[in-house]
Amino acid sequence: MTTTTPRTQVVELANGVFARLHEGLTNAGIIVGDEGVIVIDSLRVPSFARDLIGDVRRLSSKPIRYVIDTHSHWDHAWGNEEFPDSAIVGHANCRAEMLDLERVAWWRERARSQDAPWSKEVDAVRVTPPSLTFDTSLRLHFGGREIALRYLGRAHTSGDIYIHLPGDGLLFTGDVAQDGGVPFVLDGYVRDWVDTDARLLELPAERFVSGHGPVGERPALVEARAFIKALAAGAARTVAEGRDEATAGREITAALRERFGGWRGFERVEESARFAHRQAGGKA
Ligand SMILES: [Zn+2]
Repeated sequence: MTTTTPRTQVVELANGVFARLHEGLTNAGIIVGDEGVIVIDSLRVPSFARDLIGDVRRLSSKPIRYVIDTHSHWDHAWGNEEFPDSAIVGHANCRAEMLDLERVAWWRERARSQDAPWSKEVDAVRVTPPSLTFDTSLRLHFGGREIALRYLGRAHTSGDIYIHLPGDGLLFTGDVAQDGGVPFVLDGYVRDWVDTDARLLELPAERFVSGHGPVGERPALVEARAFIKALAAGAARTVAEGRDEATAGREITAALRERFGGWRGFERVEESARFAHRQAGGKA
């Protein structure tokens, strides 16, 4: 479907289930049921959320009943305030992260300093945490479809959730797993992530929509875990061998380059590797 926002497209993956892909920025999901609509991720600032709502309205005039936050990060959840009549659903840790003033200030500063079209708007965002939270799982029975929200442990943040549509073999993975993209690691839990990813792979799904990049198929989900596993293994090794942080960053990056060097965001890997090294050594 054509959209009004440049570099976005809306792709129907199953009857009434859409990925709204934004090239280079953040994706969202839209699920249209009999009596309402679910939006997955509200995007980075209110104007982005309003554009997203515009695309929802081209698909359906039904009310948006739920907004699901895959995790707390600003580029996924700082449009929440534009959905005052919807239940905002997320993990309990996602809510806690969004209520953490220091963390919010850190993200606001980071977003503001990007000198991007949305940078000024970031200051006006009223960060709006989930109003409906859960700890391990929550099922929505929505328009004849079962939608399972799952928490599988810490990974990219402390509160990442997955939206699983078992009847459609579809999964929304937030920022935990992308198709050929290096995830943002600096707010994550690298060792836990490896185990969380293993649980994610147990969910039956043939295709997945991640927070960034294209719609992926199962082999890409497997490869996403391989990246995190290699990162964690590299960090464990550099700690065991007593490397300093800078050396560790270079060594881990070099080890990852052959298999993952062509991924989006690989230029961020060295910083991620240094972080993983610090974390493996108990210093982050
Ligand atoms: Zn994120």
